[in-house]
Amino acid sequence: MQTNRSLSNSTCGASEEQIASLEVLLHRMMNRIRQSLELPAILSGTVAEVRAFLGTDRVMVYRFDLDGSGEVVAESVQEERLPSLLGQHFPAEDIPPLARELFLKARQRSIVDVAAQEIGSSSLDCPVTGVSLPEIDIRFRPVDPCHVEYLTSMGVQSSLVVPILHRDRLWGLLVSHHSLPRQVTDRELQVVQLVADQLSIAIAQSTLLEQTRIQAQQEATINRVAKLLHSMTEMQLQQALELTISALGGTGGRVYISPQRPGTAAQLLTCGEQPIWRSEAGYQLYLEEYPSWRSWLEAQTTVDDDRCTWAIADWHGLEIPPELALAWFPVRIRGLLIVRLQYRQQILGYLSVFRREIEIETLWARRPDRDDPRHLRPIQSFETWRELKQGQAQAWTSAEIELVQALGSHFALAIQQYELYLQVHALNADLSRDIQERKQAEIKICALNAQLEQRVEERTAELQRANVELLREIGVREQAQASLERLSRQNELILNSAGEGIYGLNAQGKITFVNPAAARMLGYRVRELIGSNCDRDLEIHASYFLPETRDRSNAKFIHAILNHSQPDGTPYTWEESPIYATLQTGAVQYINNDIFYRRDGSKFPVEYVSTPIREQGKIVGAVVIFKDITERQIVERMKDEFVSVVSHELRTPLTSIRTALGLLARGFLETQPAKRQRMLEIAFDNTNRLVRLISDILDIERINSGKVIMHKQLCDASELIVQSAEVMQAMAEKAEIDLCVTPVSAKLWVDPDRIVQTLTNLLSNAIKFSSPGSTVWLSAELGSREQGAGSRGEKRAGGAENTGGEIHNPKSKTQNSKIPDPLAPRSSLLTPHITFQVKDTGRGIPADKLESIFERFQQVDASNSGHQGGTGLGLAICRSIVQQHGGQIWVESVLGTGSTFSFTLPLAQNSDQ
Ligand code: ADP
Repeated sequence: MQTNRSLSNSTCGASEEQIASLEVLLHRMMNRIRQSLELPAILSGTVAEVRAFLGTDRVMVYRFDLDGSGEVVAESVQEERLPSLLGQHFPAEDIPPLARELFLKARQRSIVDVAAQEIGSSSLDCPVTGVSLPEIDIRFRPVDPCHVEYLTSMGVQSSLVVPILHRDRLWGLLVSHHSLPRQVTDRELQVVQLVADQLSIAIAQSTLLEQTRIQAQQEATINRVAKLLHSMTEMQLQQALELTISALGGTGGRVYISPQRPGTAAQLLTCGEQPIWRSEAGYQLYLEEYPSWRSWLEAQTTVDDDRCTWAIADWHGLEIPPELALAWFPVRIRGLLIVRLQYRQQILGYLSVFRREIEIETLWARRPDRDDPRHLRPIQSFETWRELKQGQAQAWTSAEIELVQALGSHFALAIQQYELYLQVHALNADLSRDIQERKQAEIKICALNAQLEQRVEERTAELQRANVELLREIGVREQAQASLERLSRQNELILNSAGEGIYGLNAQGKITFVNPAAARMLGYRVRELIGSNCDRDLEIHASYFLPETRDRSNAKFIHAILNHSQPDGTPYTWEESPIYATLQTGAVQYINNDIFYRRDGSKFPVEYVSTPIREQGKIVGAVVIFKDITERQIVERMKDEFVSVVSHELRTPLTSIRTALGLLARGFLETQPAKRQRMLEIAFDNTNRLVRLISDILDIERINSGKVIMHKQLCDASELIVQSAEVMQAMAEKAEIDLCVTPVSAKLWVDPDRIVQTLTNLLSNAIKFSSPGSTVWLSAELGSREQGAGSRGEKRAGGAENTGGEIHNPKSKTQNSKIPDPLAPRSSLLTPHITFQVKDTGRGIPADKLESIFERFQQVDASNSGHQGGTGLGLAICRSIVQQHGGQIWVESVLGTGSTFSFTLPLAQNSDQ
């Protein structure tokens, strides 16, 4: 049976006081809701106001859980008229699903009157269409006895239940209980409905507020984590992980970062509880790297495929490989919230948050027991029952999932940035190392450059010094070269001008050099002996005498040229030669009696010295200096002859003297005074002759040897002539000779005594060999004919070109050349001179004696010498004196007719002298 009552009917009976009270109630509630955003406060205030308005014993707010059970979350009780149910849970079956559906779809209110055993239902919306109904319509019907029994057991006689909706969901119920029977008016229902509507608004606000708070909290968490992450040091990564775990209410967690580049290692940061994972022996694999784990995880349902997030509330209900179960079982981790860290397509690692199982304590208004058959019976008593559920897993909320995803994005970004940072850092390190290396290289290069420059400078200085040294050496060498050339020229000059023959030969006896004197003496030209001209004769000599040393060079074998034969014509071998000995032994050989052969085959006596030439102690050749000793041998022979002549000449008067003196001494002539006198005279004459002889010999020797110094002075020829004539006048008179003198005046630079001696000697001879009564002429003649040349057709004798001049008295010339002599002839061709002449008409001189009479001890008739008192030395002395004065002497004679002796003297050319 149902009873419908309209709202209008119900409200018509409301008093003015009730209306005012209602308005006050509504006003206060609105204010309370507006003033507070905290739902518990709103709820508790609301139940208090509603209870005060209704005047019932208990007003409460019941909130549904997702499983249909519910909990009293706000309550107001009037003076303990009913027991408090605050905080108590009621099983889902206490409010059947149909009732919950009507609460939601029709927003159905229910009013139970236990006393009347009826329940009134009032829908705000049509259960079918969901459209709001135009007016309040409460329909009453009999209540279910079980419901009555349920309420009665609770001590409730009257109840009013109004649903509270939130976002098209049955959020909860606003319930009024009264322990006494009581009727609910339409007005009350309308007011409570208004309150419920306001509560919906407040719940929406509060939920929004809560969501905003959670969001703000998450954002703050994200900000803190992001701030920590993007400072990117390992410690702050750890802090970020800890903060993440804390924000998500985890009991543990970890960040696994896979190796980002070849050669780098994976990283793992952990916080709190961890699975006990032992990698296989020999392998240090992290859990995230374990293939079994990965495949298991990939097989699980993700909450977000795009972002690869796994929210596993409880892994216990899932199939899991045994080895993984071993990791998880020992710990009480039940919930896994895992997000794969990735940047674009690159997987960077995993962020994992763990939650351990928890205990859930629930205070039930009664003990639910679906297995109890009594449960089907009406519930008659409420005994509170505190239920404790252990090992419970917690589901991950969407907010937590969103949070972990947001944080995972930051972790991924940070890891990527950190990797980039590491790469950049590595690059920077490489770059700075590179820069450092380059700087060091630059420093080295600078140092090297400096060294190089220093070396260049040093080298340049060395080169300059070397250059200076070189220039100096060049200068020295040039000087040495010049000296060498000068020496060479001097040597050449010396060699060329040397009177001795000089030649050099090598160790084989071949000519290496030869001087002109040597070549001339040997009858060759220098180049014929040294040059390439090959003389057939020489070749023959060489092949004959020294076949074993013959070579093909053009040098001549000197021994074959000079010493090929002994004086008697027998071969003279090279090994016998002293020069060979010099080359072999290095001994200097002085040889004074050897012979050399000329080119024409003639031979001449030589003396030579052979001296070895040494180079670095080794004999490489020899120098031979030789001299033609033909002249010397002649002189020596003449000296020998001279000595024998002198001995003979001296012996003759000495014999006479000894004989005479012997006769006298023995007294044989004591009785013969005339004879004794004669003996004395003989002795005296021979003594005089001996004195004269010795005097002349000494005189001539002294003149020829240059020991007699000519005291030259300026004289007049006429004075010399007159003086000589005067000296001889007495002798001429005694011999009854007429002396005819013709003085000629001419300036002469002569030793007057010697010239007078010459003239008197010639006059003496002329007187001596002239017949008494004859005439001897002394005259002179000036001329400038060629010196030494006689009259054309006349026979000259005793001239310089005769054997005497150069050969017999070579020193006279040398002496003349040494003494400055103003009268010395300046030209050998035309020299102004004076020719003295002594002419007689005596016996004359045979033609073959014209020259020899000028030699010492040479007389035409030696047997007559004693008679004439001559020594045979006078003419020799004359010639020496004349030659000492640069003149010539000769004789022209016709046997039986007479002789003319002439000699020249150069005139003093300077008239001032
Ligand atoms: P000496 O008259 O003392 O014998 P000299 O040297 O003066 O020696 O003369 C050498 C020789 O020359 C003489 O012995 C003589 O035979 C010869 N002779 C020199 N003068 C004349 C002369 N006027 N007439 C002929 N014979 C001369």
